[in-house]
Amino acid sequence: MENLAASADAPYDALIVGAGPAGSTAGRLLAAAGLKVALLDKARFPRSKTCGGGLILRSLARLPPAAAATVERACFEAEMNFLASGLSFHVRRKQPVVAMAMRDRFDHALVQAAVASGAQLCEECPVESVVQNAEGVQLRTPRGVFSGRFAIAADGALGRMAALAGFLDGRLLIPALEAEVHVAAPILASFGQRARFDFELVPDGYAWVFPKADHLSIGVLAAAPGEARLQQRLEEYLRRLDIVPLRIEKHGYVIPVRPRRPPYAKGRVLLAGDALGLADALTAEGISSALRSGEVAAHAILDGGGAARRVARLYQRGLRRELLRELAWSRRLAHILYFKPRLRAFLFRRCGQQLCEVLTDCLLGEERLPQALLNPRRWIKLLASLTARVPGGS
Ligand SMILES: Cc1cc2nc3c(=O)[nH]c(=O)nc-3n(C[C@H](O)[C@H](O)[C@H](O)COP(=O)(O)OP(=O)(O)OC[C@H]3O[C@@H](n4cnc5c(N)ncnc54)[C@H](O)[C@@H]3O)c2cc1C
Repeated sequence: MENLAASADAPYDALIVGAGPAGSTAGRLLAAAGLKVALLDKARFPRSKTCGGGLILRSLARLPPAAAATVERACFEAEMNFLASGLSFHVRRKQPVVAMAMRDRFDHALVQAAVASGAQLCEECPVESVVQNAEGVQLRTPRGVFSGRFAIAADGALGRMAALAGFLDGRLLIPALEAEVHVAAPILASFGQRARFDFELVPDGYAWVFPKADHLSIGVLAAAPGEARLQQRLEEYLRRLDIVPLRIEKHGYVIPVRPRRPPYAKGRVLLAGDALGLADALTAEGISSALRSGEVAAHAILDGGGAARRVARLYQRGLRRELLRELAWSRRLAHILYFKPRLRAFLFRRCGQQLCEVLTDCLLGEERLPQALLNPRRWIKLLASLTARVPGGS
């Protein structure tokens, strides 16, 4: 792709910093609507990204076709195991519960879709400083100064753009370690059909196996920051599953599972994706929120008629409606799942299968978490299972 140089005399309608799922989506929609968009990234694409690459159906439905075509494997089944308690649950659906993609190809396809819509891409272009006034935003980069009417900071969990633009933090960054593990064909085949989530290996977190076309993505995460000995946990996990790597490549990173302190738009700068802190606290999946926040940011700019305050108001409102409310419920559930082991054990022993079914419906987008949790019919069913005798129990 042709690289772009800054042109101060031809300001952009929108400058997007970071061409991951959040930034590329915003760039694609804004450019498709006829705005002049610069999409800046410090990397050159295709670039790798530490990620399990698990896509939930909700996000698949909204992807440009070329990005959806990077899915290597679709899992129609998932299992959730509590290793120490010996509990195991299994869900199966007619649609993929999780679809697997490699982020280098997936993100590259999203960038190409943005460029095809008219966004101008500037790679190897890290933003180093941000200045904004009533009229617009200026970004200083090694390729020159870019000026635009609005900017979207979509530079990921460790990007600096939000801090440079004066946003407060307050996100909760949890550690995760991910390994691309090449294994012998029989091992790949035995893990090939299902997404697997294992609890009670990392004390406050989970481990996963996501099958890709020719290898397994295996990872561990802790739901709280701090020293989680993830390297050791990963080794333990591989031993436990009898996975003998032929080749293994490990990468650690962080996932922001609690948003920044509001506001999420300041003057003419909006935050999106991990830069805002939109990964789901329960599952740690962040791609769907990144895509959705990119869409909401683009619509706010398009509908705001160039007025910074109106754009900010529309963005805050859109985020609340589309993402923030649901993410807040997820955080409450995550607290029980990861930090209340006795309550968790009680609930999953009594009605684990039902809980897994509800979560799956939410991942598929068939239900939204707040509605699922506030649905009286669900509560009646749940109460019935809680009061029923556990087979073999006392
Ligand atoms: C180990 C691990 C496993 C995960 N597994 C999953 C999963 O299976 N499914 C899921 O949904 N989510 C998963 N996530 C979370 C997911 O990766 C993120 O939530 C998602 O990538 C966020 O997208 P984004 O567009 O906000 O940011 P990113 O994808 O991080 O993109 C940010 C972009 O900004 C660029 N950038 C950074 N700084 C600058 C700068 N100064 N100037 C210009 N550009 C800059 C970067 O090069 C990058 O391209 C996982 C995360 C980790 C760490």
